[in-house]
Amino acid sequence: MISHEIKIAFEEYHTFEELNDTDKALCLEAEKALAGSHSPYSNFSVGAALRLKSGRIIYGSNQENAAYPSGLCAERVALFTWGANFANDPIEAMAVTAHTDKFTINKPITPCGSCLQVLAEYEKKQAASIRTLLYCRNGAVWATQGADSFLPFMFFEDRLAAVPV
Ligand SMILES: [Zn+2]
Repeated sequence: MISHEIKIAFEEYHTFEELNDTDKALCLEAEKALAGSHSPYSNFSVGAALRLKSGRIIYGSNQENAAYPSGLCAERVALFTWGANFANDPIEAMAVTAHTDKFTINKPITPCGSCLQVLAEYEKKQAASIRTLLYCRNGAVWATQGADSFLPFMFFEDRLAAVPV
């Protein structure tokens, strides 16, 4: 038996004000994305903004549905918009924020496992990691470089080897 230990790395900024101007600007774009949220069931709005190499910003927001599984997270709305329309313009960074009147958000909102898997897929597709900013209004900001800091056991088919015929 071999025992393994995996360490992850992320930056924590006590407030938005500690961020550099580039990161601040993308967090503010994520705030703008909140306006597109369709969240009448949870009353929990999530906004995501991608900054591409060209400087283009792509917005995503959570889209809920009366048939619950038909909805989608803000991060994947933004990431799939990129994949379908702008995949020749690499993603440099993604910022995510949230708003609700129902709860107090004490810590930055982290993407779900499915969104992290999609983030990892696109990092592989563009052969470059994506800086991710998790932004809590009036609180801390967490930042990472690359999905593997969130999801070290992400699924990639290159862990599989074809059976010889
Ligand atoms: Zn998600």
